[in-house]
Amino acid sequence: MQSPIERRKTVPVRIGQVVVGGTAPVVVQSMTNTDTADVMATVVQVAQLARAGSELVRITVNTEEAAAAVPEIRQRLEAMGVEVPLVGDFHFNGHKLLQKYPACAEALAKYRINPGNVGKGSRRDSQFAEMIEFACRYDKPVRIGVNWGSLDQDLLARLMDENARLAQPREATEVMHEALIRSALDSAARAEELGLGHDHIILSCKMSGVQDLIRIYRDIAARCDYPLHLGLTEAGMGAKGIVASTAALSVLLQEGIGDTIRISLTPEPGGDRSEEVRVAQEILQALELRSFTPVVISCPGCGRTTSTFFQQLAQDIQDYIRTQMPQWRSQYPGVENMTVAVMGCVVNGPGESKHANIGISLPGTGEKPVAPVYVNGEKTVTLKGEGIAREFQHIVERYVAEHYSSA
Ligand code: SF4
Repeated sequence: MQSPIERRKTVPVRIGQVVVGGTAPVVVQSMTNTDTADVMATVVQVAQLARAGSELVRITVNTEEAAAAVPEIRQRLEAMGVEVPLVGDFHFNGHKLLQKYPACAEALAKYRINPGNVGKGSRRDSQFAEMIEFACRYDKPVRIGVNWGSLDQDLLARLMDENARLAQPREATEVMHEALIRSALDSAARAEELGLGHDHIILSCKMSGVQDLIRIYRDIAARCDYPLHLGLTEAGMGAKGIVASTAALSVLLQEGIGDTIRISLTPEPGGDRSEEVRVAQEILQALELRSFTPVVISCPGCGRTTSTFFQQLAQDIQDYIRTQMPQWRSQYPGVENMTVAVMGCVVNGPGESKHANIGISLPGTGEKPVAPVYVNGEKTVTLKGEGIAREFQHIVERYVAEHYSSA
């Protein structure tokens, strides 16, 4: 798919087999919520996230037990054929863990360093330097990930003092935004002074407010050519989290800003962690930046569709496609660009169906109980009776095999 969006120019950073920035497509990433010391639970969740389409998976490395578990997690994933690069999320004690667990330092493909949580007072600079030295030694890229919830308070206080001395001081919020950006850019400059390559650095400045995030990323994007990791931090649960993340990221992505994204959803109790991966993919696909899976277009239904038949069919087709995609992706290249329309009545049904690769217009209330099917804009068959759903699925199957054969 040719993207209509001109992306900001950035230096490509290689993370294992994945490239972030440059001309690479926007990369989808996610983070586990298992205890990393629990090897099996973490392996299972990383594999789930990778199978859902996460191209990088971040894991917490917060304790000695977690650091010791990382090499085994890596090995077990490889034994399962899951090669997704693992990113280590370090705070406070990362320098000690990387020192004591070299196999962990080696097994990770990237280190995430939060300059606000790397150490306090006089120890901060030396501990940050130690982390960067490990990145240089093991040739690993880093994400310098600033978060407004853990902003470097010394830097903020210094900028606030400088601001107070100005003839016309700026708003406190503006100073805080500047502190976030300076924390990221100054840390990146320091990392380069310490020997880390310019092409080994990704930046992020996460906020939980949509407008704040947009403002900060526009600013930092104009001030450097490092690839940017986008994400609304603490986005929240369910629809609220999805909508807020989509609102923030869509504006930035549309402006060409952002090289990798993560959707920080709070899962519902017992919920599926892979939801954050699917939402990230949906955002990129809706913006026509990438294609991951065929699109099922379905109308919302209204008073003309009093039965749930068409809702069920739209759901079944969506589920069927999702289930088939892991196999289709390798067997039928290009299938992710297919569109399927499932419409509820004759008002918009035939029109929308003709625009899709395959479309079905189901009968609304009081309409003749038949369902015309359109393939590439032409009406090919009219389905009726009990077997509409099954026959339509066969038509989709046949279309995929005929139009996207890898041969
Ligand atoms: S296509 Fe028909 S059923 Fe669907 S929303 Fe429009 S009028 Fe209602």
